[in-house]
Amino acid sequence: MSTPAIVLATLRYRESSKIVRLATLELGVQSVIAKGALRPKSRFGASLQVLSEGSAIIHYRDRRDLQTLTAFDPSTVRMALAENLAAFATASVLAEMMLRFSPSERHPESYHLVRRGLDVLEASPPDAVDVVGLRLLWQLVRVLGFAPEMTACVRDGAPVMDGAVAFSPGEGGVLCRSCAGPAARLLPSDSRSDLLALLDASAPLPHLDERHAAAHRRLLARYVEYHLADGGVPPAMTFWLGRAWEAA
Ligand SMILES: [Zn+2]
Repeated sequence: MSTPAIVLATLRYRESSKIVRLATLELGVQSVIAKGALRPKSRFGASLQVLSEGSAIIHYRDRRDLQTLTAFDPSTVRMALAENLAAFATASVLAEMMLRFSPSERHPESYHLVRRGLDVLEASPPDAVDVVGLRLLWQLVRVLGFAPEMTACVRDGAPVMDGAVAFSPGEGGVLCRSCAGPAARLLPSDSRSDLLALLDASAPLPHLDERHAAAHRRLLARYVEYHLADGGVPPAMTFWLGRAWEAA
């Protein structure tokens, strides 16, 4: 079958083949083998680059962990992303989250979000990448079904009033005063409204100074760690948090 697809990761396999993890529109996330992709005259040429987008032809057989990629016709190679490390690091986190958490069945919401997200990151001016990236990543958390509860206590459903609130990444949202207890870590009022704005794609983007942006990156990483990753912050997200490119 033919489907729009984005290359999420590639891995050399034996002498001349590649195993490619694809986000596809029609089949969700799939592992495919591109036989002979590393041969000099391979029909795949250099098309199977991470974050490239195109049309994949997959020989699909039910209940196989590894499908066969027959052809990949690239329509978009993300050259501009490769030149902007901040945008590339964010795109890599999107790809990593898709790879780990998007289902291996048709899930157009996450596919389109990542496809559009790569366009947006590629077009973002450098000083906007941070906040644009945070919104994309929270939107991906949302379409994958893990959005945090922001207005009612996650334990007892009590409405949570304005102002600073206790936020529990592990429990998936805000806690009311009586559930939180005196030792709870509070999300300050401005950070809470910034998070609400990041979660709502129709809201204006919040303005985040470096300190607040760093706090939001850590919050997202803690949330993903609790909800989506089993066993720590995954590698692309660790690189994104570390921001090695800023010291370069
Ligand atoms: Zn409560």
